[in-house]
Amino acid sequence: MRSDVRDYTLVAPGTLDAVLSALAANPTLTPLAGGTELMVAFGVGRLGPHELISLDGLKELRFIEEKPETLTLGAGTTFTDIRRNPTIAREFPLLVQTAAWTGSIANQNRGTLGGNIANASPAADNPPALLVYDATIELVSANGRRTLPYDEFHLGYKKTVLLPGELIYAIHLPRRFAQHRQYVRKVGTRNAQAISKIALAATALMDGSHVGEIRLAGASLVDRPARLHATEALLLGKAITPELRTQAAAVLASEIKPIDDIRSTAKYRIAVACNLLDEFLLSL
Ligand SMILES: Cc1cc2nc3c(=O)[nH]c(=O)nc-3n(C[C@H](O)[C@H](O)[C@H](O)COP(=O)(O)OP(=O)(O)OC[C@H]3O[C@@H](n4cnc5c(N)ncnc54)[C@H](O)[C@@H]3O)c2cc1C
Repeated sequence: MRSDVRDYTLVAPGTLDAVLSALAANPTLTPLAGGTELMVAFGVGRLGPHELISLDGLKELRFIEEKPETLTLGAGTTFTDIRRNPTIAREFPLLVQTAAWTGSIANQNRGTLGGNIANASPAADNPPALLVYDATIELVSANGRRTLPYDEFHLGYKKTVLLPGELIYAIHLPRRFAQHRQYVRKVGTRNAQAISKIALAATALMDGSHVGEIRLAGASLVDRPARLHATEALLLGKAITPELRTQAAAVLASEIKPIDDIRSTAKYRIAVACNLLDEFLLSL
């Protein structure tokens, strides 16, 4: 049954400082950014939190800043902002691709990168790209800021390191992937407007015929957005041979823990994840 708007409150302080003060006074307030997750829950009568605080329109969160070493995306950056940015297109093409996969054009106009991360779905499209670009995440609260590797942000199914009253402020991307091989592929029921059955993202830097650097991450492979460290460790420093590709598939299959659900089966997800990894390795 649809929710009744009279059961909810929404405050919109209008500046980041005022939002942080309000959150410090009442950490149970739920941030509402683009609303493309929260309003779906509201629409079907399943939005638990009844006191919301708006991040919509906060200029302090919607920015893309270029520095020589780092590209920083504010949490309020929309997927349309990402798709239209020429620097992201040139240096971080995987992120442009995953932004383009995120729902419809309407979704991409409203939905934010911060919302996709904070929602913490293991099936979300953009976290795997951020993970293979070795992103760091900056959090902010009335007590100050802290920055940590994005790889350490997700703790489990829908669990993150965010503390009460704390917001995602920005994502920092190191600008050193121009020479890397980059790969992302999403497998879903159809090409648009479908949550993935599985996805795999990868970056690698070859050192001659050997793998000098490699990062792998996927969607719907474990209970959270996560790197595939065991498979990376096997591949690092080695030449890609048929034997290594077979070993890599075996390690990947044992490292991931996909589930059977409405979109797919664990068996299918493991088989396809191994195929995608092999496709990437053959391209190196
Ligand atoms: C029709 C439809 C199709 C979709 N398709 C896809 C898809 O293909 N792939 C995909 O990945 N997602 C998809 N989504 C999900 C959604 O669009 C994304 O997750 C989007 O990025 C959410 O961002 P938002 O700003 O709208 O978040 P909101 O709905 O405003 O918030 C989502 C969660 O994040 C929290 N939050 C938001 N901003 C912050 C912040 N700065 N700090 C801390 N917490 C914060 C909120 O409190 C809430 O818990 C789809 C949604 C719809 C409705």
